[in-house]
Amino acid sequence: MFKINEEYLKLPGSYLFSTVARKQREFEAAHPDKKVIRLSIGDVTQPLVPAVIDALKKATEEMAHKETFRGYAPDLGYDFLREAICKNDFHARGVQMDTDEIFVSDGAKSDCGNIGDIFSVDNRVAVCDPVYPVYVDTNAMAGRAGNYDAFTEKWTNLIYMPCMQENGFAPELPKEEPDIIYLCFPNNPTGATVTKAQLQTWVDYALRIGAVIIYDAAYEAYISEDDVPHSIYECDGAKACAIEMRSFSKCAGFTGVRLGYTVVPKELMQDGVSLNALWARRHGTKFNGAPYIIQRAGEAVYTPEGKRQTREQIAYYMNNARIIREGLAKAGYSVSGGINAPYIWMKTPDGLTSWEFFDRLLEEANVVGTPGSGFGPSGEGYLRLTAFGTLENTLEAIERISKM
Ligand code: PLP
Repeated sequence: MFKINEEYLKLPGSYLFSTVARKQREFEAAHPDKKVIRLSIGDVTQPLVPAVIDALKKATEEMAHKETFRGYAPDLGYDFLREAICKNDFHARGVQMDTDEIFVSDGAKSDCGNIGDIFSVDNRVAVCDPVYPVYVDTNAMAGRAGNYDAFTEKWTNLIYMPCMQENGFAPELPKEEPDIIYLCFPNNPTGATVTKAQLQTWVDYALRIGAVIIYDAAYEAYISEDDVPHSIYECDGAKACAIEMRSFSKCAGFTGVRLGYTVVPKELMQDGVSLNALWARRHGTKFNGAPYIIQRAGEAVYTPEGKRQTREQIAYYMNNARIIREGLAKAGYSVSGGINAPYIWMKTPDGLTSWEFFDRLLEEANVVGTPGSGFGPSGEGYLRLTAFGTLENTLEAIERISKM
Protein backbone atom coordinates (compact mmCIF):
# COMPACT_ATOMS: atom_id res chain seq x y z
CA MET A 1 0.00 0.00 0.00
CA PHE A 2 1.45 3.35 -0.92
CA LYS A 3 2.07 6.04 1.64
CA ILE A 4 1.80 9.76 1.09
CA ASN A 5 4.25 12.37 2.33
CA GLU A 6 2.56 13.07 5.65
CA GLU A 7 4.53 16.27 6.13
CA TYR A 8 2.00 17.87 3.76
CA LEU A 9 -0.77 17.13 6.24
CA LYS A 10 0.92 19.33 8.82
CA LEU A 11 0.68 22.42 6.63
CA PRO A 12 -1.88 24.92 7.90
CA GLY A 13 -4.29 26.16 5.22
CA SER A 14 -2.88 29.00 3.18
CA TYR A 15 -5.80 31.34 3.68
CA LEU A 16 -4.06 34.68 3.34
CA PHE A 17 -4.57 35.65 -0.29
CA SER A 18 -7.80 33.67 -0.70
CA THR A 19 -9.30 35.38 2.36
CA VAL A 20 -8.14 38.78 1.09
CA ALA A 21 -9.77 38.07 -2.30
CA ARG A 22 -12.98 36.74 -0.73
CA LYS A 23 -13.36 39.78 1.52
CA GLN A 24 -12.86 42.08 -1.46
CA ARG A 25 -15.44 40.14 -3.52
CA GLU A 26 -17.99 40.24 -0.70
CA PHE A 27 -17.49 43.96 -0.20
CA GLU A 28 -17.84 44.65 -3.92
CA ALA A 29 -21.02 42.57 -4.11
CA ALA A 30 -22.52 44.49 -1.19
CA HIS A 31 -21.38 47.89 -2.53
CA PRO A 32 -21.54 47.79 -6.35
CA ASP A 33 -21.31 51.60 -6.49
CA LYS A 34 -17.87 51.69 -4.81
CA LYS A 35 -14.58 51.38 -6.65
CA VAL A 36 -12.21 49.14 -4.69
CA ILE A 37 -8.48 49.72 -5.19
CA ARG A 38 -6.09 46.82 -4.65
CA LEU A 39 -2.73 47.69 -3.17
CA SER A 40 -2.34 44.11 -2.04
CA ILE A 41 -0.96 42.35 -5.07
CA GLY A 42 2.69 41.37 -5.43
CA ASP A 43 2.17 41.12 -9.18
CA VAL A 44 3.23 43.71 -11.74
CA THR A 45 0.66 45.65 -13.78
CA GLN A 46 2.72 47.33 -16.53
CA PRO A 47 3.16 45.54 -19.89
CA LEU A 48 6.43 44.01 -21.07
CA VAL A 49 8.83 46.63 -22.45
CA PRO A 50 9.31 46.96 -26.25
CA ALA A 51 12.83 45.47 -26.22
CA VAL A 52 11.46 42.30 -24.62
CA ILE A 53 8.48 42.12 -26.98
CA ASP A 54 10.80 42.50 -30.00
CA ALA A 55 13.00 39.67 -28.73
CA LEU A 56 9.97 37.45 -28.12
CA LYS A 57 8.70 38.09 -31.67
CA LYS A 58 12.11 37.47 -33.21
CA ALA A 59 12.64 34.22 -31.28
CA THR A 60 9.12 33.06 -32.13
CA GLU A 61 9.84 33.65 -35.81
CA GLU A 62 13.02 31.59 -35.48
CA MET A 63 10.92 28.71 -34.20
CA ALA A 64 8.90 28.81 -37.44
CA HIS A 65 11.84 27.75 -39.64
CA LYS A 66 13.66 24.47 -39.60
CA GLU A 67 17.09 26.16 -39.88
CA THR A 68 16.53 28.15 -36.69
CA PHE A 69 14.04 25.98 -34.79
CA ARG A 70 15.17 24.95 -31.28
CA GLY A 71 13.98 21.97 -29.29
CA TYR A 72 15.01 21.21 -25.71
CA ALA A 73 17.07 24.00 -24.24
CA PRO A 74 20.28 23.13 -22.37
CA ASP A 75 19.19 22.06 -18.86
CA LEU A 76 21.23 24.73 -17.16
CA GLY A 77 20.47 27.58 -19.57
CA TYR A 78 21.70 28.91 -22.92
CA ASP A 79 25.19 30.36 -22.84
CA PHE A 80 24.00 33.62 -24.41
CA LEU A 81 21.82 34.29 -21.34
CA ARG A 82 24.27 32.98 -18.76
CA GLU A 83 26.98 35.20 -20.27
CA ALA A 84 24.70 38.26 -20.24
CA ILE A 85 23.83 37.56 -16.59
CA CYS A 86 27.48 37.19 -15.56
CA LYS A 87 28.53 40.33 -17.37
CA ASN A 88 25.70 42.62 -16.29
CA ASP A 89 24.63 41.38 -12.87
CA PHE A 90 28.08 40.46 -11.52
CA HIS A 91 31.13 41.62 -13.50
CA ALA A 92 29.64 45.12 -13.80
CA ARG A 93 29.52 45.22 -9.99
CA GLY A 94 33.08 43.98 -9.60
CA VAL A 95 32.05 40.41 -8.72
CA GLN A 96 33.88 37.58 -10.46
CA MET A 97 31.41 34.97 -11.73
CA ASP A 98 31.64 32.16 -14.29
CA THR A 99 28.79 31.08 -16.54
CA ASP A 100 28.82 27.57 -15.05
CA GLU A 101 27.90 29.10 -11.69
CA ILE A 102 24.59 30.38 -13.16
CA PHE A 103 21.59 28.04 -13.41
CA VAL A 104 18.70 29.39 -15.47
CA SER A 105 15.21 28.40 -14.34
CA ASP A 106 11.54 29.26 -14.74
CA GLY A 107 11.59 31.64 -11.78
CA ALA A 108 12.77 32.18 -8.24
CA LYS A 109 9.79 30.52 -6.58
CA SER A 110 10.68 27.13 -8.06
CA ASP A 111 14.32 27.57 -7.11
CA CYS A 112 13.47 28.68 -3.54
CA GLY A 113 11.36 25.57 -3.20
CA ASN A 114 13.67 23.14 -4.96
CA ILE A 115 17.00 24.14 -3.43
CA GLY A 116 16.14 22.07 -0.34
CA ASP A 117 16.60 18.91 -2.45
CA ILE A 118 20.37 19.12 -2.10
CA PHE A 119 20.30 19.46 1.71
CA SER A 120 19.77 16.80 4.35
CA VAL A 121 16.49 16.73 6.20
CA ASP A 122 18.47 17.05 9.47
CA ASN A 123 19.51 20.65 8.87
CA ARG A 124 18.21 23.35 11.20
CA VAL A 125 16.67 26.17 9.18
CA ALA A 126 16.45 29.84 10.18
CA VAL A 127 13.90 32.17 8.60
CA CYS A 128 12.92 35.78 9.10
CA ASP A 129 9.59 36.54 10.73
CA PRO A 130 7.61 37.90 8.84
CA VAL A 131 8.73 35.95 5.79
CA TYR A 132 7.97 35.03 2.17
CA PRO A 133 5.96 31.86 2.95
CA VAL A 134 7.63 29.66 0.31
CA TYR A 135 10.79 29.16 2.41
CA VAL A 136 8.78 27.92 5.38
CA ASP A 137 6.26 25.75 3.54
CA THR A 138 8.82 24.00 1.34
CA ASN A 139 10.97 23.14 4.35
CA ALA A 140 7.84 21.86 6.09
CA MET A 141 7.04 19.68 3.06
CA ALA A 142 10.57 18.26 3.21
CA GLY A 143 10.16 17.40 6.90
CA ARG A 144 12.66 19.97 8.12
CA ALA A 145 10.24 22.21 10.02
CA GLY A 146 8.91 19.83 12.69
CA ASN A 147 5.26 20.39 13.63
CA TYR A 148 3.07 23.44 13.24
CA ASP A 149 1.96 24.93 16.55
CA ALA A 150 -1.33 26.72 15.88
CA PHE A 151 -1.08 28.63 19.17
CA THR A 152 2.30 30.27 18.50
CA GLU A 153 1.74 30.06 14.72
CA LYS A 154 5.29 28.70 14.43
CA TRP A 155 6.92 25.46 13.34
CA THR A 156 8.62 23.69 16.20
CA ASN A 157 11.89 23.00 14.41
CA LEU A 158 12.42 26.29 12.61
CA ILE A 159 14.50 29.10 14.05
CA TYR A 160 12.59 32.37 13.73
CA MET A 161 14.44 35.66 13.44
CA PRO A 162 11.99 38.44 14.31
CA CYS A 163 12.12 41.53 12.10
CA MET A 164 10.51 44.30 14.08
CA GLN A 165 10.54 48.06 14.32
CA GLU A 166 13.17 47.82 17.11
CA ASN A 167 15.73 46.19 14.79
CA GLY A 168 14.77 48.16 11.69
CA PHE A 169 12.99 45.06 10.33
CA ALA A 170 16.38 43.40 9.79
CA PRO A 171 17.06 40.04 11.44
CA GLU A 172 19.65 39.63 14.18
CA LEU A 173 22.04 36.69 14.43
CA PRO A 174 19.95 33.92 16.02
CA LYS A 175 20.68 32.52 19.48
CA GLU A 176 20.24 28.94 18.28
CA GLU A 177 22.73 27.86 15.64
CA PRO A 178 21.20 27.21 12.20
CA ASP A 179 22.64 25.17 9.32
CA ILE A 180 20.63 26.91 6.59
CA ILE A 181 19.75 30.60 6.76
CA TYR A 182 17.21 32.21 4.43
CA LEU A 183 17.72 35.92 3.83
CA CYS A 184 15.77 38.12 1.43
CA PHE A 185 16.84 41.69 0.71
CA PRO A 186 15.20 43.93 -0.37
CA ASN A 187 12.61 42.19 1.72
CA ASN A 188 9.16 40.93 0.92
CA PRO A 189 7.00 41.76 2.88
CA THR A 190 8.64 44.57 4.92
CA GLY A 191 10.53 46.36 2.15
CA ALA A 192 13.56 46.51 4.48
CA THR A 193 17.16 46.23 3.31
CA VAL A 194 20.56 45.87 4.93
CA THR A 195 23.81 47.67 4.22
CA LYS A 196 26.78 45.87 2.78
CA ALA A 197 28.46 45.98 6.20
CA GLN A 198 25.40 44.37 7.82
CA LEU A 199 25.26 41.66 5.18
CA GLN A 200 28.98 41.05 5.65
CA THR A 201 28.18 40.21 9.31
CA TRP A 202 25.88 37.43 8.09
CA VAL A 203 28.49 36.09 5.68
CA ASP A 204 31.15 36.09 8.42
CA TYR A 205 28.71 34.36 10.78
CA ALA A 206 27.80 31.68 8.21
CA LEU A 207 31.47 31.02 7.49
CA ARG A 208 32.23 30.80 11.22
CA ILE A 209 29.48 28.30 12.06
CA GLY A 210 29.55 26.38 8.77
CA ALA A 211 26.06 27.42 7.66
CA VAL A 212 24.82 28.11 4.14
CA ILE A 213 22.87 31.27 3.30
CA ILE A 214 20.06 31.06 0.76
CA TYR A 215 19.92 34.66 -0.44
CA ASP A 216 16.80 35.78 -2.30
CA ALA A 217 17.55 38.91 -4.33
CA ALA A 218 14.29 38.94 -6.33
CA TYR A 219 13.86 42.69 -5.68
CA GLU A 220 17.46 43.74 -6.28
CA ALA A 221 16.46 46.03 -9.17
CA TYR A 222 14.51 48.27 -6.76
CA ILE A 223 17.57 49.26 -4.72
CA SER A 224 18.13 53.02 -4.82
CA GLU A 225 20.65 53.57 -2.03
CA ASP A 226 24.39 53.21 -2.63
CA ASP A 227 25.41 51.23 0.44
CA VAL A 228 22.80 48.50 -0.13
CA PRO A 229 24.33 45.44 -1.84
CA HIS A 230 22.69 44.10 -5.02
CA SER A 231 24.24 40.69 -4.57
CA ILE A 232 25.49 38.82 -1.52
CA TYR A 233 28.67 38.12 -3.52
CA GLU A 234 29.63 41.76 -3.03
CA CYS A 235 30.57 40.59 0.49
CA ASP A 236 33.98 38.98 1.12
CA GLY A 237 33.84 35.21 1.44
CA ALA A 238 30.21 34.89 0.31
CA LYS A 239 31.09 32.53 -2.52
CA ALA A 240 32.11 29.95 0.07
CA CYS A 241 28.81 30.10 1.99
CA ALA A 242 25.94 31.49 -0.10
CA ILE A 243 23.52 30.57 -2.86
CA GLU A 244 21.72 33.48 -4.52
CA MET A 245 18.38 33.54 -6.33
CA ARG A 246 17.28 36.11 -8.87
CA SER A 247 14.11 36.64 -10.84
CA PHE A 248 13.09 38.47 -14.01
CA SER A 249 9.57 38.84 -12.57
CA LYS A 250 9.82 42.15 -10.79
CA CYS A 251 12.76 43.72 -12.65
CA ALA A 252 11.26 43.18 -16.11
CA GLY A 253 7.61 42.22 -15.59
CA PHE A 254 8.15 38.49 -16.30
CA THR A 255 5.64 37.24 -13.68
CA GLY A 256 3.58 35.61 -16.43
CA VAL A 257 6.54 34.91 -18.72
CA ARG A 258 8.62 32.99 -16.14
CA LEU A 259 12.38 33.29 -15.93
CA GLY A 260 14.87 33.34 -13.08
CA TYR A 261 18.24 31.99 -12.10
CA THR A 262 20.20 30.64 -9.16
CA VAL A 263 23.88 31.15 -8.48
CA VAL A 264 25.75 28.27 -6.86
CA PRO A 265 29.43 29.22 -6.70
CA LYS A 266 32.04 26.56 -7.32
CA GLU A 267 33.76 27.56 -4.08
CA LEU A 268 30.73 26.39 -2.08
CA MET A 269 31.75 23.00 -0.68
CA GLN A 270 30.80 20.74 2.19
CA ASP A 271 32.84 17.68 3.19
CA GLY A 272 34.70 17.88 -0.11
CA VAL A 273 31.46 17.89 -2.12
CA SER A 274 30.70 20.74 -4.52
CA LEU A 275 27.19 22.15 -4.13
CA ASN A 276 27.51 23.48 -7.67
CA ALA A 277 27.85 19.91 -8.91
CA LEU A 278 24.96 18.73 -6.74
CA TRP A 279 22.66 21.48 -8.00
CA ALA A 280 23.73 20.83 -11.62
CA ARG A 281 22.81 17.18 -11.10
CA ARG A 282 19.47 18.05 -9.53
CA HIS A 283 18.58 20.75 -12.07
CA GLY A 284 19.63 18.60 -15.03
CA THR A 285 17.62 15.66 -13.76
CA LYS A 286 14.39 17.36 -12.74
CA PHE A 287 14.26 20.41 -15.04
CA ASN A 288 14.32 20.40 -18.83
CA GLY A 289 15.39 23.97 -19.44
CA ALA A 290 13.61 27.32 -19.67
CA PRO A 291 12.09 27.94 -23.13
CA TYR A 292 14.40 29.35 -25.82
CA ILE A 293 11.98 32.18 -26.61
CA ILE A 294 11.87 33.25 -22.98
CA GLN A 295 15.64 33.10 -22.56
CA ARG A 296 16.00 35.38 -25.60
CA ALA A 297 13.51 37.73 -23.93
CA GLY A 298 15.66 37.61 -20.79
CA GLU A 299 18.76 38.41 -22.82
CA ALA A 300 16.96 41.48 -24.21
CA VAL A 301 16.58 42.85 -20.66
CA TYR A 302 20.37 43.34 -20.67
CA THR A 303 20.56 45.27 -23.95
CA PRO A 304 20.96 49.06 -23.67
CA GLU A 305 17.29 49.59 -24.69
CA GLY A 306 16.11 46.79 -22.40
CA LYS A 307 17.99 48.31 -19.48
CA ARG A 308 16.65 51.80 -20.15
CA GLN A 309 13.06 50.63 -20.62
CA THR A 310 12.98 48.37 -17.55
CA ARG A 311 14.64 51.11 -15.48
CA GLU A 312 11.79 53.45 -16.48
CA GLN A 313 9.24 50.85 -15.44
CA ILE A 314 10.90 50.36 -12.07
CA ALA A 315 10.99 54.14 -11.64
CA TYR A 316 7.24 54.20 -12.31
CA TYR A 317 6.59 51.68 -9.53
CA MET A 318 9.01 53.41 -7.19
CA ASN A 319 7.22 56.70 -7.75
CA ASN A 320 4.09 54.90 -6.53
CA ALA A 321 6.09 53.66 -3.54
CA ARG A 322 7.13 57.23 -2.73
CA ILE A 323 3.54 58.45 -3.01
CA ILE A 324 2.35 55.73 -0.62
CA ARG A 325 5.18 56.21 1.86
CA GLU A 326 5.06 60.00 1.95
CA GLY A 327 1.26 60.18 1.80
CA LEU A 328 0.79 57.81 4.71
CA ALA A 329 3.51 59.46 6.79
CA LYS A 330 1.84 62.84 6.21
CA ALA A 331 -1.46 61.38 7.33
CA GLY A 332 0.23 60.34 10.59
CA TYR A 333 0.86 56.66 9.95
CA SER A 334 4.07 54.89 10.85
CA VAL A 335 5.52 53.43 7.63
CA SER A 336 8.73 51.80 6.49
CA GLY A 337 10.07 50.24 3.29
CA GLY A 338 9.33 51.71 -0.13
CA ILE A 339 12.82 53.17 -0.65
CA ASN A 340 14.72 50.14 -1.94
CA ALA A 341 11.67 47.94 -2.48
CA PRO A 342 8.18 48.09 -4.01
CA TYR A 343 6.65 47.20 -0.62
CA ILE A 344 5.49 49.53 2.12
CA TRP A 345 5.10 48.13 5.62
CA MET A 346 2.51 50.12 7.50
CA LYS A 347 1.87 49.95 11.23
CA THR A 348 -1.81 49.60 12.08
CA PRO A 349 -3.18 52.53 14.11
CA ASP A 350 -4.93 52.38 17.49
CA GLY A 351 -3.51 48.95 18.33
CA LEU A 352 -5.70 47.25 15.73
CA THR A 353 -4.77 43.76 14.58
CA SER A 354 -3.71 43.33 10.97
CA TRP A 355 -7.09 41.89 9.99
CA GLU A 356 -9.06 44.53 11.93
CA PHE A 357 -7.20 47.28 10.11
CA PHE A 358 -7.57 45.43 6.80
CA ASP A 359 -11.38 45.45 7.34
CA ARG A 360 -11.42 49.12 8.32
CA LEU A 361 -9.38 50.10 5.27
CA LEU A 362 -11.71 48.14 3.01
CA GLU A 363 -14.88 49.53 4.62
CA GLU A 364 -13.85 53.16 4.96
CA ALA A 365 -11.35 53.76 2.13
CA ASN A 366 -12.29 50.85 -0.14
CA VAL A 367 -8.59 49.98 -0.36
CA VAL A 368 -7.23 46.43 -0.09
CA GLY A 369 -3.89 45.70 1.58
CA THR A 370 -2.34 42.44 2.79
CA PRO A 371 -2.47 41.74 6.54
CA GLY A 372 1.07 41.48 7.92
CA SER A 373 0.09 38.64 10.27
CA GLY A 374 -0.30 36.42 7.20
CA PHE A 375 3.50 36.50 6.77
CA GLY A 376 4.28 35.33 10.30
CA PRO A 377 3.49 36.15 13.91
CA SER A 378 5.84 39.17 14.01
CA GLY A 379 3.83 40.66 11.14
CA GLU A 380 0.86 41.13 13.47
CA GLY A 381 -0.05 44.80 13.75
CA TYR A 382 1.15 45.60 10.22
CA LEU A 383 -0.27 45.80 6.73
CA ARG A 384 1.68 45.41 3.48
CA LEU A 385 0.90 47.77 0.62
CA THR A 386 2.47 47.38 -2.80
CA ALA A 387 3.62 49.88 -5.39
CA PHE A 388 2.67 47.65 -8.33
CA GLY A 389 -0.67 49.39 -9.04
CA THR A 390 -1.27 52.17 -11.53
CA LEU A 391 -0.26 55.74 -10.65
CA GLU A 392 -3.89 56.91 -10.77
CA ASN A 393 -5.12 54.21 -8.41
CA THR A 394 -2.19 54.74 -6.06
CA LEU A 395 -2.87 58.48 -5.82
CA GLU A 396 -6.56 57.90 -5.24
CA ALA A 397 -5.98 55.19 -2.63
CA ILE A 398 -3.65 57.39 -0.61
CA GLU A 399 -6.04 60.34 -0.80
CA ARG A 400 -8.83 58.13 0.51
CA ILE A 401 -6.72 56.69 3.34
CA SER A 402 -5.58 60.19 4.30
CA LYS A 403 -9.22 61.27 4.66
CA MET A 404 -10.15 58.34 6.87
N1 PLP B 1 11.08 35.60 -3.87
C1 PLP B 1 10.34 36.56 -3.32
C2 PLP B 1 10.81 37.21 -2.07
C3 PLP B 1 9.13 36.94 -3.90
O1 PLP B 1 8.39 37.91 -3.33
C4 PLP B 1 8.71 36.30 -5.08
C5 PLP B 1 7.45 36.66 -5.74
O2 PLP B 1 6.63 37.42 -5.31
C6 PLP B 1 9.52 35.31 -5.61
C7 PLP B 1 10.70 34.97 -4.98
C8 PLP B 1 9.08 34.53 -6.80
O3 PLP B 1 9.54 35.06 -7.98
P1 PLP B 1 9.27 34.37 -9.37
O4 PLP B 1 8.14 35.08 -10.01
O5 PLP B 1 10.56 34.49 -10.11
O6 PLP B 1 8.93 32.92 -9.12
